Amino acid sequence: MAEGTLLVLVGPAGAGKTTLAHVLQTRTPGRRAFSVSHTTRPMRPKEIDGKDYYFVDRPAFETLRDAGGFAEWAEVHGNLYGTSRAEIARLLGDGNTALFDIDIVGAHNLWRLYPEQVRLAFLLPPTWQVLVDRLLNRGTETLEIVRRRLRTARLELHAVCDSPAPWHVVVNDDLQVAADHLEALLAVPPPPAENPRAHPAVLAFLRDAEADPRAA
Ligand code: 5GP
Repeated sequence: MAEGTLLVLVGPAGAGKTTLAHVLQTRTPGRRAFSVSHTTRPMRPKEIDGKDYYFVDRPAFETLRDAGGFAEWAEVHGNLYGTSRAEIARLLGDGNTALFDIDIVGAHNLWRLYPEQVRLAFLLPPTWQVLVDRLLNRGTETLEIVRRRLRTARLELHAVCDSPAPWHVVVNDDLQVAADHLEALLAVPPPPAENPRAHPAVLAFLRDAEADPRAA
């Protein structure tokens, strides 16, 4: 296993994962790259094969999976997603950082595989209402999809609270402050993990998520 750090960004759609990862990448050009996952989900407009995902059909995914080609994989909303071992090998080395935008199941699996090298960041928008507004204002998603994302956000929040893994809660209120926080996680040794259940932003989020019928 090559030396390097795996920075795993978990959090609801609308938490700003892509934007934050972009900030981190521009701070040290060439040293931080996004891991490109394989998926069986159909390509969306504007997505690029090999950049956003490696788009494959189900039999191709299953062949690679059965040959042990994935470090982790999961089924999300009926589609298969996975991080190939080849992708991780490609990105790490020379102390580089690989960035991951994967679900919580994938995050756990990477942590089990690379316990010393993985940093788990749970990203949150400043409040539940900000998340709702961001999802509604995107304008590209149906109400049904917004509801599904809110429900997923609520469930993910519970999963992080129940997780045995070492998490760091990063609130994305100010982009540069949140990027600094992520940057600090890359230190060796890393800062001590937090208990998400004791984090005020997580507690407020949970309270509002539970009270919102759209997330039920
Ligand atoms: P989307 O289809 O909207 O791009 O992604 C749907 C979900 O799949 C997101 O929660 C995303 O984090 C997750 N995901 C994307 N790639 C992977 C992967 O390689 N492994 C896992 N476990 N989840 C992934």
